[in-house]
Amino acid sequence: MNSLEKLGRPVNRFLQQIAESRFPDLKQPDGHSAFLLLQAGKREKAEAAIAKVLREKNWYALRNKKEFLFYDSIIKLMLLLGLPINPELLKSVKEAITNSFSKESLVRVTTSSGDLSLLEAICAIPNTTIYIWTEGNKEFQEIKLERTGAANIVENAKGKIHIAKDKVLALVEILSAVFDDEATILFGADDKLKNIRDLKKNLSDGIENLGQICCVQIQSPRTNGEEKTHSPQAFYDLVLESRNANADAKIVVVLDFDGVVCDTDGALQGEGTMRLLNLLNVGAAKVE
Ligand SMILES: [Mg+2]
Repeated sequence: MNSLEKLGRPVNRFLQQIAESRFPDLKQPDGHSAFLLLQAGKREKAEAAIAKVLREKNWYALRNKKEFLFYDSIIKLMLLLGLPINPELLKSVKEAITNSFSKESLVRVTTSSGDLSLLEAICAIPNTTIYIWTEGNKEFQEIKLERTGAANIVENAKGKIHIAKDKVLALVEILSAVFDDEATILFGADDKLKNIRDLKKNLSDGIENLGQICCVQIQSPRTNGEEKTHSPQAFYDLVLESRNANADAKIVVVLDFDGVVCDTDGALQGEGTMRLLNLLNVGAAKVE
């Protein structure tokens, strides 16, 4: 029996699916080389490649669809590792990921009353309504919003959270509320340029009250100052400045969650990865 056979039928079935290109996203180099090494029976090298996948957060990319599903990525990882897929282990894996999110995961800015999360800072600006605009797996989004304290902050500020599978659908809901509210100034922030474009496009259809619109791409916490992007601090300063200059304005802020309000990649790459490594017994020693 070669080491691939020892891994059992699920892995063989999985490798077969890969061979048939049913997981196109798995073409990313490390995940793919781990499969090739497993196929070649080089278990130790395969484990090192898997460790690399974990460490670099590529486990997050082990999925079929664009949507992130807890179990989809994790089951693939477990299959890669030849681990038994049982409810106990899945539960621990889920906890390892979700416990990585805490208040510390929120992106921070400096305000006149000290260091605050960007979300709290914006919520503290008077007469400003906040909308969180996010897409993805509803369960996972809700857990992140809860664990980081973001759900509470938004609730206390009487803001609203919109989670949708398709971000444009969430936007349509938000904008209809914004128009009903007769807001006069709108700020939008997202770390993805496409979302900013969608926001601007949807805003261009029939807004009468909005006198000022400012939609900006925020540099995500993991990248250093890309061109034309705003830092979270610059965005906060912009909203505050606008508040001070327009005393009677009804300001609405539409904020993306992952990569703007929350340093999601930081949590998943840092603590999340270490917890998974420990749990899945891919020794830290192999991860330089
Ligand atoms: Mg984002």
